[in-house]
Amino acid sequence: MRDQTIDILRDLIAYPTVSSESNLQMIGHLAGQLEAAGARCFLSGDDTGSKANLFATLGPDGPGGILLSGHSDVVPVLDQDWSSDPFEMTERDGRLYGRGTCDMKGFIAAAVAFAGQIDPARLIRPLHFAFTYDEEVGCLGARHLVGELAQRNILPDIAIIGEPTEMRIIEGHKGCCEYTTHFSGLEGHGSLPDAGVNAAEYAARYVSRLMELREQLKPRAPQNSRFDPPWTTINIGRIAGGVAHNVIAGKAEVDWEMRPVQKADAEFVKQALAAYVRHTLLPDMHAVCNHAEITTETIGEVTGLDPMHDNAARDLVAELTGSNSADVVSFGTEAGLFQELGMNVVVCGPGSIEQAHKPDEFITVEQLNKCCDMLARLGIKLTA
Ligand SMILES: [Zn+2]
Repeated sequence: MRDQTIDILRDLIAYPTVSSESNLQMIGHLAGQLEAAGARCFLSGDDTGSKANLFATLGPDGPGGILLSGHSDVVPVLDQDWSSDPFEMTERDGRLYGRGTCDMKGFIAAAVAFAGQIDPARLIRPLHFAFTYDEEVGCLGARHLVGELAQRNILPDIAIIGEPTEMRIIEGHKGCCEYTTHFSGLEGHGSLPDAGVNAAEYAARYVSRLMELREQLKPRAPQNSRFDPPWTTINIGRIAGGVAHNVIAGKAEVDWEMRPVQKADAEFVKQALAAYVRHTLLPDMHAVCNHAEITTETIGEVTGLDPMHDNAARDLVAELTGSNSADVVSFGTEAGLFQELGMNVVVCGPGSIEQAHKPDEFITVEQLNKCCDMLARLGIKLTA
C-alpha cells in the first residue's frame, strides 16, 4: 500500500485544485480509481458546476460503517517562493514536496490506495470515502455533502478526517466564523454632524458592543474546557470607512471573527448583536435617515468539533494507532459538520499542520507510512 500511496499522491499533486479553480478533473480521477476498486460512487456538485464532492462506498449497503474523509482543494501558491514546481511532486531526503502533500492529498492518496487493497466482498461493514471541495474557503463542499447524506439516509457511525495531525488523535477544535458588517449612513459636511448619519461612528459603537460581548463570553466557558483560551473569542480584524476629515462618513465596514467553543455561544453573540442593531443602532440612524442600514455578510462559518465523553471514532483510532491520548487543536476542519449529522468523529492524518499552506509544503514518507499502517489495521478489523 505504501508504494501505491506515493504513486497516487504524485498524480493528485499534479491537479492544481486551488479553491478558486475547478476540482472536477481530480474528482473524476479519484472516482475512476475507487470504481476500479469496486466502490459505488456519486458526485454532488456546487451551483457553478465547476466543483464537486465525491462520495464512495465499498462493501455492504446499509447503515453505519466507517467514513474516511478529506478535502480536495488546496490553498494558492501565489506570492510564495517555492524551490520546485508546487504542482509536480518532488522527493528530497525522505520528504515529498508539493502543494497539498500534507494538507491533505497525502491522506486521500493513502485512503485510495487502501481501497485498492480491500476485497469488498469480505467487508463486514460499509467503508465510505468522502472527498470534498472548498474546505479552505469555509467548508462549503462538506456543508453541501452532509445535506446530501442526510437526504440519502447515509449515516456512517464513525468518521476519520485525515487533516495533518502527525497521526495524533484530535477530538475537538473550536469553530471559526468570519463576518463583515457593513454600515451605510448619510454623508454630509463635517461641520454639521447631526445632519448626517456617520457610518464610522456606528461601526465604532458596533465594535464596542463586540468587545463587551467578548468579555461576557469568558464566564460562559464550559467547565474543564481544554481549549486555549478556554472560552469563545471574538477578534476585530479590520475597520474601514469614510473619505476625509471634514466629511461625515457615509460608509464603513468591520471585519471580525468569532471562534466558538460551543454552538450556544455563537447563538448568544448573534442574538445579542441583532437586538443591539434592531433596538439601538437602527432607531438612532433612522431618526436622521430612513435609508441607513447595517448588514452582516457571512464570509465563512466552520462548525466546531465538540469533544465528546463517548466517542467511538476516538476509541477506534486509539486502537489502530496504539495512542491513548486525544487532544484539541486551534485549527478548524470539516469534522464539526459530520458531527452535527450524528457521527462520531476524530481528526487524524499524516503530516504536520506546520507545513500546511506554506511554500515548500511537504509530507515525510515516514508519516505516509504511519497512515498506511493505520489503514491496514483498519482493513483487518473491517474484514471477515
Ligand atoms: Zn486541510
